[in-house]
Amino acid sequence: MRFVLPLQAQAMKGLNEKGNDLVLPRVKDKKPLLIAGPCSAESETQILSVAESLAAQKKVQLFRAGIWKPRTRPDNFEGIGEKGLHWLRRVQEEFGMPAITEVANARHTREALDQGLKYLWIGARTTVNPFSVQDIADALKGAPVTVFVKNPIHPDINLWMGAIERIQNAGVAHVGAIHRGFSTFRSSPYRNIPLWEIPIELQRRFPDLTLICDPSHIAGSRPLIPLVSQKALDLNMAGLMVEVHPNPEEAWSDAKQQLTPGHFHDMVDLLSVRSEHGSDDVFINQLEELRDKIDKLDEEILSALEVRLKMIEQIGQYKRQNNVTVYQIDRWNEILKTRAKMGGELGMDAEFVKKLMELIHVESIRIQTGIMQDPSQGQDPLSGQE
Ligand code: PEP
Ligand code: MN
Repeated sequence: MRFVLPLQAQAMKGLNEKGNDLVLPRVKDKKPLLIAGPCSAESETQILSVAESLAAQKKVQLFRAGIWKPRTRPDNFEGIGEKGLHWLRRVQEEFGMPAITEVANARHTREALDQGLKYLWIGARTTVNPFSVQDIADALKGAPVTVFVKNPIHPDINLWMGAIERIQNAGVAHVGAIHRGFSTFRSSPYRNIPLWEIPIELQRRFPDLTLICDPSHIAGSRPLIPLVSQKALDLNMAGLMVEVHPNPEEAWSDAKQQLTPGHFHDMVDLLSVRSEHGSDDVFINQLEELRDKIDKLDEEILSALEVRLKMIEQIGQYKRQNNVTVYQIDRWNEILKTRAKMGGELGMDAEFVKKLMELIHVESIRIQTGIMQDPSQGQDPLSGQE
């Protein structure tokens, strides 16, 4: 286990002098990094009360609270501002828990650094804006701090990577990432849909990055938080940032998604932390055997797809010769309907089968339009000439 936990005020003093003592977990560490605290700092009493409960539980490594809140609508609570930094200092000094807060511009960053904060995060609404991220990076230049970059509100992995790179390029001591889900127009049980494939791809591109999950902003409601948290750990994320409030119903922001300290405690006790690699030989052998079979099946799927795409090419030629459009809505509807039915009979999720067929269909259309527009195939239907 690679945490160095500054649990005492004494250790905290060391932290302020030396910079970061909390070594961020790598993906493969077994013990997850836990960050908890209210969505927003509301009063000194609220902050100290929740910090006291969390410190007594000895489960969290960092205490979170937002003091500058980028709210979507102007009539929402926009944060207590700079005076909240003094409350966070008290948390650090009195409970030995380093605090982390959100910075959304260079001024916030300077004020947080001046007050001795060693942990910061960049929120989803800031990650979308490279100018804002660069301003923060410039204000951070070489600072001995840890900065977590939340994903942008929409699913653009390059924007997320770009923000991480800007902070890394500023020479910041440690940079991590927080997956908090993505805005969507689709109706969904989540406040922000997780699209787990995006953080998984981010981790593939940055294998050493500490990637944690914020189940509170993904879930948006209390009952979903344990499920999202477990899923994040099952996907090998290195930790969780959870919103915890002494009296969630009365919270000034995100009231529906905050847990009481008691709920948080019970949830953490119920979470299973699995390891990336098992150590039991029988398990490893069985896993290898299953993986071999999967490798062969993937080969068969790809060969079948190759044959299917070759036929698409043939059909494309016929359509061109007979001046028929690439796309026929009736045929496409029939494919979707029959394949979903077939999939359903085989016990597969209909939505998955639909997505798979759509993917194949897009490729078929790409191949056939290529044939239609290929001048080496004789008459070019787009040119209107012989
Ligand atoms: C927050 O953590 O309170 C917050 C505002 O998060 P996000 O940037 O993910 O919306
Ligand atoms: Mn919040």
